[in-house]
Amino acid sequence: MLRTAVAQLHHGLSLVFGRRLRVANIERVVADIVATRAEFGGIGDLDAFRGTSMSVQDRKPIDDRRLRRLARMAYAETPYYRDLFDRVGMRPDEVNLSTLERLPVTRKETLRDTPEALVNRGVRPWYRAETSGTTGPPSSVWFSRYEAELLTAMTAVSLLIDNRLGEGDVIQLNLVSRAFFGIHCFAGAAALIGVAPSSLGLVEPEISLSRLAGGTRLSGAEARPVLLVTYSSYLGLLVEAGERLGYTAADFGLRQITCGGEILTEGLRRRAERLFGATVVETYGMTEIAPSSGQICTGGHLHFHPEQGITEVLDLTGTRAAEPGELGVLTFTPVFPYRETTLLLRLFSGDVVRRLADDDLGCELAQLPATSRVLGKDGHLYGFGGRTVTPRDILELVEADPAARFPSRWSLRTGTDGLELHILGDDPQAADRIRKRGLEQEIPLSRVIVHGERATMPPTAPVRADLRELSFADATLKTDATLKTDASLKTDASLKKHPETAQ
Ligand SMILES: [Zn+2]
Repeated sequence: MLRTAVAQLHHGLSLVFGRRLRVANIERVVADIVATRAEFGGIGDLDAFRGTSMSVQDRKPIDDRRLRRLARMAYAETPYYRDLFDRVGMRPDEVNLSTLERLPVTRKETLRDTPEALVNRGVRPWYRAETSGTTGPPSSVWFSRYEAELLTAMTAVSLLIDNRLGEGDVIQLNLVSRAFFGIHCFAGAAALIGVAPSSLGLVEPEISLSRLAGGTRLSGAEARPVLLVTYSSYLGLLVEAGERLGYTAADFGLRQITCGGEILTEGLRRRAERLFGATVVETYGMTEIAPSSGQICTGGHLHFHPEQGITEVLDLTGTRAAEPGELGVLTFTPVFPYRETTLLLRLFSGDVVRRLADDDLGCELAQLPATSRVLGKDGHLYGFGGRTVTPRDILELVEADPAARFPSRWSLRTGTDGLELHILGDDPQAADRIRKRGLEQEIPLSRVIVHGERATMPPTAPVRADLRELSFADATLKTDATLKTDASLKTDASLKKHPETAQ
């Protein structure tokens, strides 16, 4: 493992002296882990590589220096930040952890409307990635080849260590195909470790289920996917379809399912774990902060790696730090050498979390800064009688019900005596159960109304599973008058487990 140790040293030096990371070194670490595991069956201690050992005090001088370097770069090379610094009368040299709050946050609208004004003129941009959020028009984030290669190598390390993948494993991605940048890096990472990825897009759930259950004959061995990467709402769609079609855990070879981009509830997690016989893990990432991402520990906190950037929790207006226990918005400053093209100082993400008191932790990632898991978007909070209700409060409540229908559709209306919750479902008795449990949790629900179809509901927020993609087979089926409703397609017994051959 000598080569790995040398590569780790270079990695550390890059952070201190602000040089680009040598991606080849990370790739060498990946190759060493693969070789070591093949020989000894273990992977050794990689904590140094994950950078989990530095204390807040040790990090401060490094963070100050990295922030100053980023501020200088942003002032010299991007029109947006030159103008912003001049407007607020701040010099980039003044920026450090204690003065950062003087710099106004960068709103997502800025990134959406003028992405080029944030691009570093000193770097050659390679790829314009589009975000796939459900809360507004997509934003663009430009990346360089270096950033893509870095994300690829870092993803490979994560697949090896966090997902315990090895040569010959098959993985399935059910992500929106427009998320090309992430999928490209994922496929490249899989190649580095000898894993076979299949990127299906957000197709009909029956097709995804049959791929998860059907083996692929590669190198003489029958392999079913061991890891599924998708969004919570699409996982919900798979759970609905899988239960209806009579699949059981014995049909699948999955070990882990990771869900990002949307809230994952305990209710959905339980149903999915029962159906697939796999562990379901919530993740946090967004194109705007790549390659940085959040990690959720067994204590249910969302942890961020300080090495890849500065994470703040600001109050809902974005003008001061949130107090411990208060709701706030995740605000990110991705730093060099992880970020060099689209420069962002204090990106106000709109993702609401609760700031934790520092002594709240006591989990396996306690050395990393943490917040609560994401509770929803800042424009989607509701209040009644002094109580703020978040989308997570509602989703946890609705999806914990035994009759929950996935993906959840819900809408809240403010009445004179409380909040009126409209949900989509099949069991009218769910209304009483949900209201009762809501009141136990001090969610001020005056009524719960269960609708059998969406047409009678007030408008609901879109979910990522709505970005469904058609295949030719779907298009043919959909135009066939005898199969034109989803219901008839899904109850066709011949479609169970082998929808492709049935067509
Ligand atoms: Zn934790």
